[in-house]
Amino acid sequence: MNPAFDLLITGAHLATMTGDAPYGIVRDGAVAIVGDRIAWVGAVRDLPPDAHAHRRLDVPGAWATPGLIDCHTHLVYAGNRANEFEARLHGATYADIAAGGGGINATVGATREAGDDELVAASRPRLEALAAEGVTTVEIKSGYGLDTATECRLLHAARRVAAEVGVDVRTTLLAAHAVPGEFAGRADDYIDLVCRETIPAVAGAGLADAVDAFCETVGFTAAQTRRVFATAGAHGLRVKLHADQLSDMEGAALAAEFGALSADHLEYTNEAGVAALRRAGTVAVLLPGAFYALRENRAPPVAALRAHGVPMAIATDCNPGTSPATSLLLMLNMACTLFRLTPEEALAGVTRHAARALALGDRGTLAAGQRADVALWDIVTPAELAYRIGGNPCAGIVRAGRLMTGRSP
Ligand SMILES: [Zn+2]
Repeated sequence: MNPAFDLLITGAHLATMTGDAPYGIVRDGAVAIVGDRIAWVGAVRDLPPDAHAHRRLDVPGAWATPGLIDCHTHLVYAGNRANEFEARLHGATYADIAAGGGGINATVGATREAGDDELVAASRPRLEALAAEGVTTVEIKSGYGLDTATECRLLHAARRVAAEVGVDVRTTLLAAHAVPGEFAGRADDYIDLVCRETIPAVAGAGLADAVDAFCETVGFTAAQTRRVFATAGAHGLRVKLHADQLSDMEGAALAAEFGALSADHLEYTNEAGVAALRRAGTVAVLLPGAFYALRENRAPPVAALRAHGVPMAIATDCNPGTSPATSLLLMLNMACTLFRLTPEEALAGVTRHAARALALGDRGTLAAGQRADVALWDIVTPAELAYRIGGNPCAGIVRAGRLMTGRSP
């Protein structure tokens, strides 16, 4: 037999993120690809001697990892809130800004006014920045429309911008992000609308892969969140939850109760909540960019998450208010510096565990049968991905078997 591969990457050291060895390292490795799948992974010396490839990419000394996955973003929106950032540093309070029509409602207003092309054009540089750092899969939430038509437009725009940039996307309906101005003081009535109209419309059109909610003192109550999740389940959609970011709302336990794919933020989650996540198989998504930007001082319960064996993912939370971040590599650094993850845990958090947070069993590791998403890096050791602050060592990207971009390492 004479194996023929479409693409054969040789010379790189591999951080496969499989098995028990740190990073699943294979030195002087090879990744062989057929179509959009990885066909073979191992050391170059173990390649079948008669193997040949239609295309060969020899990258001596580089490192290869699974394509990175940013599993929590809100990157489709119009406008930005740099003016609020500046006003706060001149002494304005959140209340001042909200009274002036700022905060999330400013983004909702700009987003509702923007046309589809404008929304995609505004969002595209943010996704391009992520993609340039080796991100091959991204999750994008709606949540700046807060009416059925605009939420649908946002989910369409998310798929369109991802197709234009060449990144695979999972979309999440986050209609329960905030109470829109026209429902001020009537949160229950807004949730009625979300359950009666928005979720059925989005599910019927197949626009979302999951449903999310913001359960918080400044968001929605546990009872409102339960209604949203029950409706999502009735329409066959899995759920995710913004949980326990600013206070302990027992959000982690609520997420677990509904078998959520992930519970995200978790700064105030208690130990019982962590145990519930473990029992439900829910991934903990940690978002150090928001923690940093809000100058929070209570970190998520990383020791308890480790002790209970809850998988930890890391994401940018890219959004205009609390995490205007478009660098997943910077989030790796912040996860280590602010939350004390190890560099290996951080890398697992944007590969293997991030895939699980999106119910994507076909990616996040370098292994035969997986989708052929590979990032190549001009680094000496995988810890360097979390160690650096700034700079981009990404030297090449293979997405679904196709060499997308990159300079030669
Ligand atoms: Zn978020």
